[in-house]
Amino acid sequence: MFNKEKLLSAFTQSLKEMFTVHSHFNQWLEKVGVELTDLQFEKLSRYLSLLKAKNQQVNLTRITETREAWIKHILDSLMAAPFFKKPGMHVADIGTGGGMPGIPLAILFPSAYFTLVDATDKKIRAVEEFARELNLKNIICIQSRIETFAHHLTHREQYDLVTARALAPLRVLVELAVPLIHPYGNVIAYKGPEYISELGMATNAIKTLNAEQPKVFQYSLPEGMGQRSLIQITKKTVSSEKYPRRDGIPSKNPL
Ligand code: SAH
Repeated sequence: MFNKEKLLSAFTQSLKEMFTVHSHFNQWLEKVGVELTDLQFEKLSRYLSLLKAKNQQVNLTRITETREAWIKHILDSLMAAPFFKKPGMHVADIGTGGGMPGIPLAILFPSAYFTLVDATDKKIRAVEEFARELNLKNIICIQSRIETFAHHLTHREQYDLVTARALAPLRVLVELAVPLIHPYGNVIAYKGPEYISELGMATNAIKTLNAEQPKVFQYSLPEGMGQRSLIQITKKTVSSEKYPRRDGIPSKNPL
């Protein structure tokens, strides 16, 4: 039954929640030196609604509670902001899933060009739809395995920055991502507290792909939502044509 008062109260509640989230959000973002405009905040909020709605048909995320999604999805995605050092950067988000961190970063940096890649057709089509609905002209979406994508001349060694969250263990990610950046470009891997053991295991992959020793940036999500880290990997010279190896091999038989 239609209950006008109940509806109104739910609406006021969600507005109130939006307001506190927005003001908190800019405080949290101060740490990484960015401030969202109202339009950017509105787009991020719209993205979360689209994600939640689409999640009914395509499995894109486990997190749908609003506050948790703002922190674990949006804020976390935006933590790579300090790596955007100049306008017009070319960025690939590999294994983007439902569009993270690519979509939030594309909202924050409208002058950067984003290529979002995922092997799953349903997911990449959902992300394409989100980008269209959010009027993000700086995003292209490609359905492909990274092993194949990274051998295309239009993508290989073409990126200033490659981001990857929850894609693969670091040693696998290094093989997939490093060939995409040009020498002195950066790979940014979003990790949890498990990064220490992953770093140890990635020594050989890092050496094989001619990358420099990784740098680690640790942070805590607000409201006790967990420890996270960003691993920055820079490469020194052009990658060998051998890498990444054929589909599935990097994870089946890691370097
Ligand atoms: N980055 C998103 C999704 C993580 S789930 C987030 O943080 O929420 C990992 C995603 O990587 C999945 O959508 C899966 O389809 C994709 N993926 C895994 N291995 C891949 C590969 N080799 N090539 C392309 N996509 C891959």
